[in-house]
Amino acid sequence: MVTRKSRSEIERMRRAGRVVAEVLDRIEAELRPGVSTAHLDALAEAHIRASGATPSFKGYPGINPHRPFPASVCISIDDEIVHGIPGRRTIREGQIVSVDAGAIVDGWHGDAARTFFVGEPSPKVAQLIDLTRAAMMAGIAAAVPGNHIEDISAAVEAVAAQAGLGVIRQFVGHGIGTAMHEEPQVPNFRTGRPGRKLEPGLCLAIEPMFTLGTHDTRIESDDWTVVTADGSMAAHFEHSIAVTENGPEILTVA
Ligand code: MG
Repeated sequence: MVTRKSRSEIERMRRAGRVVAEVLDRIEAELRPGVSTAHLDALAEAHIRASGATPSFKGYPGINPHRPFPASVCISIDDEIVHGIPGRRTIREGQIVSVDAGAIVDGWHGDAARTFFVGEPSPKVAQLIDLTRAAMMAGIAAAVPGNHIEDISAAVEAVAAQAGLGVIRQFVGHGIGTAMHEEPQVPNFRTGRPGRKLEPGLCLAIEPMFTLGTHDTRIESDDWTVVTADGSMAAHFEHSIAVTENGPEILTVA
Protein backbone atom coordinates (compact mmCIF):
# COMPACT_ATOMS: atom_id res chain seq x y z
CA MET A 1 0.00 0.00 0.00
CA VAL A 2 1.25 3.47 -0.86
CA THR A 3 0.69 6.07 1.85
CA ARG A 4 1.10 9.82 1.59
CA LYS A 5 2.59 11.42 4.66
CA SER A 6 1.37 14.60 6.30
CA ARG A 7 3.71 17.53 6.91
CA SER A 8 4.06 16.56 10.59
CA GLU A 9 4.81 12.94 9.66
CA ILE A 10 7.48 14.11 7.23
CA GLU A 11 9.00 16.19 10.04
CA ARG A 12 9.15 13.04 12.17
CA MET A 13 10.86 11.17 9.35
CA ARG A 14 13.33 14.02 9.14
CA ARG A 15 14.35 13.30 12.74
CA ALA A 16 15.11 9.68 11.83
CA GLY A 17 16.88 10.90 8.71
CA ARG A 18 19.08 13.23 10.73
CA VAL A 19 20.23 10.35 12.95
CA VAL A 20 21.10 8.30 9.86
CA ALA A 21 23.09 11.18 8.33
CA GLU A 22 24.97 11.68 11.59
CA VAL A 23 25.85 7.97 11.66
CA LEU A 24 27.25 8.17 8.13
CA ASP A 25 29.23 11.33 9.02
CA ARG A 26 30.60 9.56 12.08
CA ILE A 27 31.65 6.48 10.10
CA GLU A 28 33.27 8.61 7.39
CA ALA A 29 35.32 10.36 10.08
CA GLU A 30 36.47 7.02 11.54
CA LEU A 31 37.14 5.25 8.26
CA ARG A 32 40.84 4.48 7.93
CA PRO A 33 43.09 1.48 7.28
CA GLY A 34 43.13 -0.91 10.22
CA VAL A 35 39.72 -0.06 11.68
CA SER A 36 37.42 -3.07 11.95
CA THR A 37 33.97 -3.04 10.42
CA ALA A 38 32.61 -4.29 13.77
CA HIS A 39 34.03 -1.16 15.42
CA LEU A 40 32.29 1.06 12.86
CA ASP A 41 29.06 -0.82 13.48
CA ALA A 42 29.42 -0.41 17.26
CA LEU A 43 29.89 3.35 16.82
CA ALA A 44 26.81 3.47 14.63
CA GLU A 45 24.65 1.54 17.05
CA ALA A 46 25.82 3.65 20.00
CA HIS A 47 25.01 6.85 18.13
CA ILE A 48 21.58 5.61 17.06
CA ARG A 49 20.64 4.53 20.57
CA ALA A 50 22.08 7.67 22.20
CA SER A 51 19.80 9.64 19.85
CA GLY A 52 16.75 7.82 21.21
CA ALA A 53 16.45 5.89 17.97
CA THR A 54 16.46 2.19 17.09
CA PRO A 55 18.60 0.61 14.35
CA SER A 56 16.23 -0.51 11.56
CA PHE A 57 18.56 -3.11 10.15
CA LYS A 58 19.33 -5.11 13.30
CA GLY A 59 17.15 -8.22 13.30
CA TYR A 60 15.75 -7.47 9.83
CA PRO A 61 14.58 -10.72 8.21
CA GLY A 62 16.47 -11.95 5.16
CA ILE A 63 16.33 -14.91 2.79
CA ASN A 64 17.23 -17.32 5.61
CA PRO A 65 14.66 -17.17 8.43
CA HIS A 66 17.33 -18.28 10.90
CA ARG A 67 19.68 -15.46 9.99
CA PRO A 68 18.20 -12.00 10.54
CA PHE A 69 20.62 -9.14 9.83
CA PRO A 70 22.95 -9.05 12.86
CA ALA A 71 24.19 -5.45 12.79
CA SER A 72 23.09 -1.80 12.73
CA VAL A 73 24.76 -0.84 9.45
CA CYS A 74 25.63 -2.68 6.27
CA ILE A 75 29.28 -2.32 5.25
CA SER A 76 29.96 -3.57 1.73
CA ILE A 77 33.52 -3.57 0.41
CA ASP A 78 34.83 -3.54 -3.20
CA ASP A 79 32.74 -6.03 -5.24
CA GLU A 80 30.14 -6.20 -2.48
CA ILE A 81 27.18 -4.10 -3.56
CA VAL A 82 24.91 -4.04 -0.51
CA HIS A 83 24.09 -5.88 2.74
CA GLY A 84 27.68 -6.61 3.81
CA ILE A 85 27.82 -7.72 7.45
CA PRO A 86 30.22 -5.88 9.78
CA GLY A 87 32.64 -8.13 11.64
CA ARG A 88 36.30 -8.73 12.43
CA ARG A 89 37.41 -7.74 8.95
CA THR A 90 39.51 -4.58 8.90
CA ILE A 91 39.47 -1.78 6.35
CA ARG A 92 42.47 -1.55 4.01
CA GLU A 93 43.91 1.22 1.89
CA GLY A 94 42.55 1.09 -1.65
CA GLN A 95 39.10 -0.24 -0.79
CA ILE A 96 35.67 1.01 -1.80
CA VAL A 97 33.49 1.01 1.29
CA SER A 98 29.71 1.39 1.00
CA VAL A 99 27.86 2.06 4.24
CA ASP A 100 24.08 1.81 4.53
CA ALA A 101 22.34 2.93 7.73
CA GLY A 102 18.76 2.94 8.95
CA ALA A 103 17.15 4.32 12.09
CA ILE A 104 13.66 4.49 13.57
CA VAL A 105 12.47 7.47 15.64
CA ASP A 106 9.00 7.22 17.19
CA GLY A 107 8.04 4.62 14.62
CA TRP A 108 9.30 6.54 11.57
CA HIS A 109 12.20 5.37 9.40
CA GLY A 110 15.21 6.99 7.79
CA ASP A 111 17.46 5.09 5.35
CA ALA A 112 20.59 6.33 3.59
CA ALA A 113 23.87 5.09 2.16
CA ARG A 114 27.17 6.51 0.98
CA THR A 115 30.22 5.03 -0.71
CA PHE A 116 33.69 6.07 0.44
CA PHE A 117 37.13 5.33 -0.91
CA VAL A 118 40.03 4.66 1.45
CA GLY A 119 43.04 6.39 -0.10
CA GLU A 120 43.34 7.64 -3.68
CA PRO A 121 40.95 5.97 -6.14
CA SER A 122 41.88 5.23 -9.74
CA PRO A 123 40.12 7.53 -12.24
CA LYS A 124 37.71 4.73 -13.12
CA VAL A 125 36.75 4.04 -9.52
CA ALA A 126 36.49 7.76 -8.78
CA GLN A 127 34.10 8.07 -11.72
CA LEU A 128 32.06 5.10 -10.50
CA ILE A 129 31.60 6.70 -7.09
CA ASP A 130 30.96 10.21 -8.47
CA LEU A 131 28.41 9.04 -11.00
CA THR A 132 26.54 6.85 -8.52
CA ARG A 133 26.14 9.91 -6.28
CA ALA A 134 25.23 12.09 -9.28
CA ALA A 135 22.61 9.53 -10.36
CA MET A 136 21.03 9.62 -6.92
CA MET A 137 20.83 13.40 -7.11
CA ALA A 138 19.39 13.23 -10.64
CA GLY A 139 16.77 10.77 -9.41
CA ILE A 140 15.91 13.06 -6.52
CA ALA A 141 15.60 16.05 -8.87
CA ALA A 142 13.04 14.08 -10.89
CA ALA A 143 10.92 13.41 -7.77
CA VAL A 144 8.47 16.25 -8.37
CA PRO A 145 4.67 16.19 -8.31
CA GLY A 146 3.24 15.21 -11.67
CA ASN A 147 6.20 13.04 -12.64
CA HIS A 148 6.03 9.26 -12.31
CA ILE A 149 8.36 6.68 -10.76
CA GLU A 150 9.64 5.97 -14.29
CA ASP A 151 10.98 9.54 -14.51
CA ILE A 152 13.17 8.88 -11.46
CA SER A 153 14.31 5.56 -12.94
CA ALA A 154 15.14 7.16 -16.28
CA ALA A 155 17.12 9.98 -14.66
CA VAL A 156 19.19 7.51 -12.65
CA GLU A 157 19.76 5.17 -15.56
CA ALA A 158 20.83 7.99 -17.89
CA VAL A 159 23.75 8.86 -15.60
CA ALA A 160 24.99 5.25 -15.62
CA ALA A 161 24.64 5.10 -19.39
CA GLN A 162 27.02 8.08 -19.83
CA ALA A 163 29.90 5.90 -18.68
CA GLY A 164 28.62 2.41 -19.48
CA LEU A 165 28.24 1.49 -15.82
CA GLY A 166 26.31 -1.62 -14.75
CA VAL A 167 22.97 -0.85 -13.09
CA ILE A 168 21.87 -3.34 -10.46
CA ARG A 169 18.36 -4.59 -11.21
CA GLN A 170 17.88 -7.11 -8.41
CA PHE A 171 17.69 -4.44 -5.70
CA VAL A 172 15.78 -1.19 -6.03
CA GLY A 173 14.69 1.90 -4.14
CA HIS A 174 11.43 1.91 -2.22
CA GLY A 175 8.78 3.81 -0.39
CA ILE A 176 9.59 4.52 3.24
CA GLY A 177 7.60 5.60 6.30
CA THR A 178 6.41 3.55 9.26
CA ALA A 179 8.12 0.61 7.54
CA MET A 180 11.60 0.68 6.05
CA HIS A 181 10.35 -0.87 2.81
CA GLU A 182 6.98 0.33 1.55
CA GLU A 183 5.40 0.53 -1.87
CA PRO A 184 6.21 1.69 -4.47
CA GLN A 185 9.43 0.17 -5.71
CA VAL A 186 11.83 2.64 -7.35
CA PRO A 187 13.92 0.82 -9.99
CA ASN A 188 17.24 2.33 -11.09
CA PHE A 189 16.45 1.48 -14.70
CA ARG A 190 13.52 2.15 -17.01
CA THR A 191 10.87 -0.54 -16.88
CA GLY A 192 8.76 0.79 -19.75
CA ARG A 193 5.86 1.42 -17.37
CA PRO A 194 5.15 4.83 -15.85
CA GLY A 195 4.61 3.48 -12.35
CA ARG A 196 2.94 5.54 -9.70
CA LYS A 197 2.31 9.23 -10.23
CA LEU A 198 4.30 11.30 -7.74
CA GLU A 199 2.21 13.34 -5.34
CA PRO A 200 3.09 15.51 -2.35
CA GLY A 201 3.55 13.35 0.76
CA LEU A 202 5.04 10.39 -1.06
CA CYS A 203 8.31 9.43 0.70
CA LEU A 204 10.90 7.42 -1.18
CA ALA A 205 14.36 5.97 -0.68
CA ILE A 206 16.24 6.60 -3.94
CA GLU A 207 19.30 4.38 -4.10
CA PRO A 208 21.30 3.69 -7.24
CA MET A 209 23.75 0.77 -7.14
CA PHE A 210 26.23 0.86 -10.03
CA THR A 211 29.15 -1.37 -11.01
CA LEU A 212 32.18 -1.24 -13.28
CA GLY A 213 30.95 -4.44 -14.92
CA THR A 214 27.84 -6.59 -14.91
CA HIS A 215 24.47 -5.95 -13.30
CA ASP A 216 24.30 -9.64 -12.33
CA THR A 217 24.53 -10.37 -8.63
CA ARG A 218 25.19 -13.29 -6.32
CA ILE A 219 24.50 -13.72 -2.61
CA GLU A 220 27.36 -14.97 -0.45
CA SER A 221 27.12 -17.97 1.90
CA ASP A 222 26.31 -15.63 4.82
CA ASP A 223 22.85 -15.28 3.20
CA TRP A 224 23.20 -11.49 3.12
CA THR A 225 26.19 -10.04 1.29
CA VAL A 226 25.30 -9.20 -2.32
CA VAL A 227 28.30 -9.21 -4.67
CA THR A 228 28.73 -8.57 -8.38
CA ALA A 229 28.70 -11.84 -10.31
CA ASP A 230 31.88 -10.83 -12.18
CA GLY A 231 33.80 -9.45 -9.20
CA SER A 232 33.63 -5.89 -10.51
CA MET A 233 33.64 -2.94 -8.11
CA ALA A 234 30.33 -1.47 -6.96
CA ALA A 235 29.06 1.77 -5.42
CA HIS A 236 25.80 2.68 -3.66
CA PHE A 237 24.27 6.00 -2.59
CA GLU A 238 20.88 6.51 -0.98
CA HIS A 239 18.77 9.31 0.45
CA SER A 240 15.27 9.17 1.86
CA ILE A 241 13.24 12.02 0.38
CA ALA A 242 9.75 13.48 0.48
CA VAL A 243 7.92 14.66 -2.62
CA THR A 244 6.41 18.06 -1.73
CA GLU A 245 4.58 20.87 -3.49
CA ASN A 246 7.91 22.71 -3.51
CA GLY A 247 9.81 19.79 -5.01
CA PRO A 248 11.86 17.02 -3.45
CA GLU A 249 13.09 17.42 0.14
CA ILE A 250 15.98 15.27 1.32
CA LEU A 251 15.20 13.87 4.78
CA THR A 252 18.50 12.12 5.51
CA VAL A 253 20.62 15.20 6.24
CA ALA A 254 22.35 16.18 9.47
MG1 MG B 1 17.04 1.45 1.21
